[in-house]
Amino acid sequence: MTCYQEITCPACGSNPIMKSGRSAEGTQRYRCQNPDCNTKTFMLAYRYKACEPGIKEQVVDMAINGSGIRDTARVLKINKNTVISTLKKSRTV
Ligand SMILES: [Zn+2]
Repeated sequence: MTCYQEITCPACGSNPIMKSGRSAEGTQRYRCQNPDCNTKTFMLAYRYKACEPGIKEQVVDMAINGSGIRDTARVLKINKNTVISTLKKSRTV
């Protein structure tokens, strides 16, 4: 499975995006190329293990279909803890 990041601007959803150096903490910073967009630079801080787009939906789908956390983690090749935290986050309280 290829682990790629499709990076789009969080404000306007536009692509392409340019890399724009790093923040003090070493987080990659990106710059939106859309001249009409207010967000000039942004950072992707929340992409770590669940790198595949739509993985969250798959985790939730499998949970709805009765798959256990261990099965879900094995099938999707992600960490068990990622499954648990994804399911917790998906339950909007
Ligand atoms: Zn933008």
